[in-house]
Amino acid sequence: MNNKMISFIEKMPKAELHLHIEGSLEPELKFRLAERNNLKLPYKNEEEMRAAYKFDDLPSFLAVYYEGMSVLITEEDFYDLTMAYLKKAKSQNVLYSEIFFDPQAHTSRGISFGTVIRGIRQAQIDGEKELGIKTQLIMCFLRDMSSDSAMETLMQALPYKELIIGVGLDSNELENPPVKFKSVFERAVKEGFKITMHCDVDQKNSIDHIRQCLDDIHVDRIDHGVNSLDDESLYKEIVKRGLGLTVCPISNNYVVADYKAKEIRIKLEKGMRVTVNSDDPAYFPGYMNENLIVVQKIESLSEEQMIELQRNAFNISWLNEDEKEKYLKLLNLYNS
Ligand SMILES: [Zn+2]
Repeated sequence: MNNKMISFIEKMPKAELHLHIEGSLEPELKFRLAERNNLKLPYKNEEEMRAAYKFDDLPSFLAVYYEGMSVLITEEDFYDLTMAYLKKAKSQNVLYSEIFFDPQAHTSRGISFGTVIRGIRQAQIDGEKELGIKTQLIMCFLRDMSSDSAMETLMQALPYKELIIGVGLDSNELENPPVKFKSVFERAVKEGFKITMHCDVDQKNSIDHIRQCLDDIHVDRIDHGVNSLDDESLYKEIVKRGLGLTVCPISNNYVVADYKAKEIRIKLEKGMRVTVNSDDPAYFPGYMNENLIVVQKIESLSEEQMIELQRNAFNISWLNEDEKEKYLKLLNLYNS
């Protein structure tokens, strides 16, 4: 890949739609928060911690991921976590980001819902004011917890409804299909939330899960959804509905030892609204630029295809139409 293409990707105006804020907790910040909260981490230094990030599938990643969250305790911790991500995103010309957070991973440790969302919210406000990066929040339920727990979390979120644009579903998919949460998501839709769900790559029932997202849950978007290509009727339906897919190449490479870059190219060629995102960049090392660059390199995508990925991202985002228009104009200007 030449330097011209790298520079084109780096300077391109970008939107990120699949980013877990807890997954952006870099070792350096983890140590700083542990110290502030008088917690002892089981690692001597950052190198030792990174060396412990050994995972080759979804469950082994999740074990390290949840352990890492123990340092997030106060509103200030959630503020610092979010601000660190926003600064990094801004440095990569991300102009807009939809950020996932996992309230149950915190409320189950005795941290209140309010502490989590107030800390994140203040960073969103300051990030927009100081860095010019716009963000919206998506609350995810942990699918390996019960649907009652998800419903309870939805109720806790209602007083903060205006601060949350959508509701998603993440964590371990094995034996935890979308339909397990049908009634919770029906209620979320009634409350005015947009809906998305993870259908991670090459899981045991990926195709069934994607089918349930379409037929039973009626999602507005699918996170990952790489396996929709494996079933012709499924991808045709996704194209027909204009549903967006938030794919995360470096994350894929950790989970199944394949960036799935080819699938991203094929999806672009089939007119699917596919996007590239960073997922958990502190654990699957690489933010937006690194993810875009790896896909471009493997599939030799053109500048126009790179622009198409970002056009898709702004188009499938949950911004209002005027805001979408504003960002798409910037992107067109960049491309001209
Ligand atoms: Zn994810």
